[in-house]
Amino acid sequence: MAALLPWTKDGSDDASSPTGRFRLEAALGRDPVKDPHERPPHAHGPQVSDPGGDEPDVVIVGGGCIGLGTAWRAARAGLRVTLADPHPGAGASWAAAGMLAPVTEVHYGEEDLLRLNLTSAARYPSFVAELEREAETTVGYRRCGTLFVAADSGDRAVLEELHQFQQSLGLEVHVLSGRECRSLEPMLAPGIRGGILAPGDHQVDNRRLAPALVTAATRRGVAIRRTAVVEVVVTDGRASGVRLEGGEVLDAGTVVLAAGCWSGSIPGPPTGALPALRPVKGQIVHLRGPAHPPFLSRNLRGVAQGSQVYLVPRQDGRVVLGATVEEKGYDTAITAEAVYTLLRDAHQLLPGVLELELAETHAGLRPASIDNAPLLGPSSLPGLVIATGHYRNGVLLTPVTADAMATYLATGRLEEDVTPFSPARFGDPGSGRRLDGAAGRAGRIEGGELVR
Ligand SMILES: Cc1cc2nc3c(=O)[nH]c(=O)nc-3n(C[C@H](O)[C@H](O)[C@H](O)COP(=O)(O)OP(=O)(O)OC[C@H]3O[C@@H](n4cnc5c(N)ncnc54)[C@H](O)[C@@H]3O)c2cc1C
Repeated sequence: MAALLPWTKDGSDDASSPTGRFRLEAALGRDPVKDPHERPPHAHGPQVSDPGGDEPDVVIVGGGCIGLGTAWRAARAGLRVTLADPHPGAGASWAAAGMLAPVTEVHYGEEDLLRLNLTSAARYPSFVAELEREAETTVGYRRCGTLFVAADSGDRAVLEELHQFQQSLGLEVHVLSGRECRSLEPMLAPGIRGGILAPGDHQVDNRRLAPALVTAATRRGVAIRRTAVVEVVVTDGRASGVRLEGGEVLDAGTVVLAAGCWSGSIPGPPTGALPALRPVKGQIVHLRGPAHPPFLSRNLRGVAQGSQVYLVPRQDGRVVLGATVEEKGYDTAITAEAVYTLLRDAHQLLPGVLELELAETHAGLRPASIDNAPLLGPSSLPGLVIATGHYRNGVLLTPVTADAMATYLATGRLEEDVTPFSPARFGDPGSGRRLDGAAGRAGRIEGGELVR
């Protein structure tokens, strides 16, 4: 049975209509699709509900920055969207530090991901401008740059290697002496051996981003149900909706799974259609210092005796210090060891850090796929679309993911930027076994444990 939704729409808003298609392309800043009647020739593409019907075109499971961003952009494109999450914005999207750092987060073998990260970073200014306008709030987007420093000569060797890699990729970075680093950030320890300045790595306040997305999405007609999804309903071999806690079924043309690290364990779809994910725990500390003069003027990353740490200063004087990377299943306990280690490493770089007020400790679970890159696009189950696995970069990747998912949901076309991240990369698309192959190699998360 279709759920009664608090709004109705006429067919002109439907993205499968010429108007809807045009609005989508216009909303995403692209040329409208030439033939509005043409549907792309994909076997398992999204299905738009009957115009004027009372069921949503799309139900999104999970309201972190990925689900909320997708809901907002899809609704802007004219789709009828319902999102279900008992606590929108309270998962990893709340725990994060909000660094938008494609250049200082670059890793060997992740060149495709780097391209996606850079694309998303470049979209941030317009994404934020539109979001702030629609939500009538600010989200703390700061074009502050990032300084990456080394505590001793061994650490400097680590930075030199990183710098060579960054240069080989044509990224904008500048090598600085210890003195130059201290002139940018006077609170740095006198012994700092040098650093790399990445002027394009910025930050957003993720704790303002998610609530702003809730407001903007709601204003665009997204129905937010503060309830957990207990099942993806499958009818005649196709995802046809979701069952909420309490039993209510929401029918929908397409179901988007954006439940972060919990996305792989929602009952209903056949084995292999769900993403193979693992939660990667991150503990983080919030410190509070003066707003004027600020403790730091830009994001600071550092390597101290081989151990990495970062500090992200907010405009109100808060400083986010992170983060551990732990393979501990779904555990979110705060440990004394993690807080000690983070403060110890930060203290080596910035002795004054111990004078800041300890405001909060928190732990979150990053959703990580088998190759640590996101999973974006249709699953092997028709009607089920995956948008998760953003691991360390989900806040950064929100604009590009939201746009790509909205385009796919409205047109069935997967944007070129995201095709390397199709869930089908782990196997034979459409076979229903494509993720089985991946799961067979690396295992699946069941009940919080990696099962091989
Ligand atoms: C300590 C830490 C620091 C980080 N720092 C950064 C950073 O600086 N920059 C960056 O880009 N990224 C960072 N990340 C990564 C980033 O936080 C994640 O990649 C991103 O938040 C993932 O967003 P998401 O929407 O996929 O998942 P989440 O934010 O985890 O959202 C998933 C949502 O799904 C909901 N849900 C779960 N099960 C169900 C269900 N059955 N029914 C309905 N809803 C359900 C949950 O309630 C939750 O709200 C960090 C992560 C951590 C933990």
